[in-house]
Amino acid sequence: MTKTLFTKIIDREIPADIVYEDNEIISFKDINPQAPIHLLIVPKKVIPTLNDLDAEDFELIGKMFKVAQKLAKDNNLSVSGFRTVFNCNEDGGQTVYHIHLHLLGGRQFQWPPG
Ligand code: 5GP
Repeated sequence: MTKTLFTKIIDREIPADIVYEDNEIISFKDINPQAPIHLLIVPKKVIPTLNDLDAEDFELIGKMFKVAQKLAKDNNLSVSGFRTVFNCNEDGGQTVYHIHLHLLGGRQFQWPPG
């Protein structure tokens, strides 16, 4: 099976600015940041989209948010605020089919997102 782009980062085949890693999750800076802080929080397990989550994966999703909470705190975003986003499929704007949670902060965001 062809490796996803993010699996290549996990396997150190493609460089990335890694800010967090444990045995289940990695986080690195987005290559095309949309805010002063833009991190991607990625499970090492390859799950293509949110549609593909199984019951056993929901604990992992919770752990991804725990990492987001920690990284927001580490980057002094907890009080000022931040945004977390999962994009799903074409209308959601997903481009990498290995689920990932965007953590964005350091500026004021608009709503609706457009
Ligand atoms: P999506 O559009 O699927 O929600 O998010 C994919 C994200 O991955 C985009 O924000 C994009 O900038 C980022 N990205 C794409 N290729 C690379 C890469 O090679 N390295 C890093 N660090 N980020 C990438």
